[in-house]
Amino acid sequence: MPEIRVTVWNEFVHEKTKEAVKAVYPEGIHQAIAAYLSQQAGLLVRTATLDEPEQGLGEEVLANTDVLIWWGHAAHNEVRDEIVDRVQARILEGMGLIVLHSAHHSKIFKRMMGTSCNLQWREAAEKERLWVVDPSHPITRGLSRYIELPHTEMYGEPFDIPTPDKVIFISWFQGGEVFRSGCTWTRGKGKIFYFRPGHETFPIYYNPEILQVIGNAVRWAAFVGNSEVDLQVVNVEPLEDINS
Ligand code: ZN
Repeated sequence: MPEIRVTVWNEFVHEKTKEAVKAVYPEGIHQAIAAYLSQQAGLLVRTATLDEPEQGLGEEVLANTDVLIWWGHAAHNEVRDEIVDRVQARILEGMGLIVLHSAHHSKIFKRMMGTSCNLQWREAAEKERLWVVDPSHPITRGLSRYIELPHTEMYGEPFDIPTPDKVIFISWFQGGEVFRSGCTWTRGKGKIFYFRPGHETFPIYYNPEILQVIGNAVRWAAFVGNSEVDLQVVNVEPLEDINS
């Protein structure tokens, strides 16, 4: 089987500007995720950041990416619309997209969803339990019934997203809210997975179960469909004689 080419994109802003974030992710969130994925068989991993040429997402990078992981929070609006157009086009062609935590408000996720992607939130370092609600799904492989995170930022419903193809995880929070924490959609030939856990001041991207979900999601989101059939507007001749 050919390797799955993964690009971990991070705006990489908080880690350079806030000491509390630098203390948790000294090399950046993208490097923490890439360090795990690089150790997994069958994955070829690179990183990309906002401050690189073409905001890290030039034509060549995207053409050689099977699955794009997206982390952003402070700089959503700095991502240029032409880059969003380019990423969207690749997703419609079959590139997978994994959207993490605060990237619910990224331009690319809102573009792909078509809704506000608004939600409720509270930063109080409370407990979260992510329940596996679809154990048939490959993204849940290797997990137990739930993942428990001792200190998280709360995200609560209503989450303004279009009805997902599948809801994989539902979170319960100590403060009483619930949230659809793991959801999938298809857009064109591409698969999209939103995964809630994260936050720049909690060490969540070192948690083995969270990393396992991200690795499972990469394998799930990689294109395995029909590369012969393109989704294009084509004026076609009939296959049969329709004039007699
Ligand atoms: Zn957060």
